[in-house]
Amino acid sequence: MTSSLRQLGAADLSGKRALVRVDYNVPLADGRVQDSTRIEASYPTLDYLAERGARPVLLSHLGRPGGSPDSRYSLLPVVDVLAEGIGRPVLFAEPADSGEAVEASRNLRDGEILLLENTRFLPGETRNDEELARRFAELGDLFVNDAFGTTHRAHASTVGVTRWLSPAVAGLLIERELLALGRLRGNPEAPFVVALGGAKISDKIDLLEGFLSRADRILIGGAMANTFLSARGEDLGDSLVEETARDTAAALLDRAGAKILLPVDLVVSSGPEAGAEARVVVPSEVPSGTMALDIGPLTRDLYGEIVSSARTFFWNGPMGFFEREAFAEGTNALAAAAAAATSAGAFTVIGGGDSAAAVRRAGLATAVSHVSTGGGASLEYLAEGSLPGLDALEGS
Ligand code: ADP
Ligand code: MG
Repeated sequence: MTSSLRQLGAADLSGKRALVRVDYNVPLADGRVQDSTRIEASYPTLDYLAERGARPVLLSHLGRPGGSPDSRYSLLPVVDVLAEGIGRPVLFAEPADSGEAVEASRNLRDGEILLLENTRFLPGETRNDEELARRFAELGDLFVNDAFGTTHRAHASTVGVTRWLSPAVAGLLIERELLALGRLRGNPEAPFVVALGGAKISDKIDLLEGFLSRADRILIGGAMANTFLSARGEDLGDSLVEETARDTAAALLDRAGAKILLPVDLVVSSGPEAGAEARVVVPSEVPSGTMALDIGPLTRDLYGEIVSSARTFFWNGPMGFFEREAFAEGTNALAAAAAAATSAGAFTVIGGGDSAAAVRRAGLATAVSHVSTGGGASLEYLAEGSLPGLDALEGS
């Protein structure tokens, strides 16, 4: 953990309005919350505050409304889910930087929570606008950042506000995340195995570089494997290959030697649509007109065995197009291997939005040591060891 990070336990809370930046960037459909994991992840901090006599005032973004109100991204559907889940009354005010919102924060009673409308309805949020940050600061007597998933962004509600509101401390969720991720950056017990998949290499180059020196094995799957295989000279047909990252992939393979493993077989199909015929091929024989959508059974076994015997395991990025059951087998096999490693005493961490969703869907979220609530943030922290949103809390 970042040593100078101010923590919640050190703050004077009784009778205070605690302005809490949470990450309620939840999936919505037809105005309903589809997955409340991120809402639930805020309960420990909110309970902690309420039990010590503080009144939580919550700021969050949801989606990318682009700086103006857009009802499709309203946080209103969160009110009932939160109230029911945490068992406290939840009030709502909009816009988040208004006099009405400040008024509502001052009128809060013990045990009540105030949720404010989407911070990204305001044009200054993502610009980290100073005036907006100053208005946010009026909503509380102290600032608590518990939006781990947003700590890699310097926005008005994550970084700017800390200039005007003191103390600015980390919430319990951030504390827990840093404990788990910090263990991977520290001195992880060997064998330290990393699995990387998902869609794009370019998003994850720094992460890969960082693991190259620390991990014993790096298993590559998903569309990321396509780019590596293509860099090795294979013709991947219609597979998703990131052309601009091919040279980087080739250079990484050169440097990594046997440390990086690529799939030895692939599941290919004409496309991800339901009903399309799927078959297993070796990477040098991907038929034209087909695309690789999952790792094959041999790769599943090979990766599964390596993961099962890891002492430390980190995984980001699904092994295939897991949204379709037909191409989720590689991802499910890896999740099962991670669970097996965990019960054998290994420390296992899953990071990344889609990876976390895949592990949850496999019913194995509680069978691993830690599922990070931050996608980009957990990857950036692992690669860099720091995050703008955390730096803003330090020494404040
Ligand atoms: P995370 O959110 O865990 O960091 P990413 O966002 O990088 O993961 O990647 C997840 C996406 O990658 C999923 O939508 C998945 O369908 C896609 N994907 C994985 N493998 C393939 C593949 N072989 N072809 C196309 N898409 C893939
Ligand atoms: Mg993703």
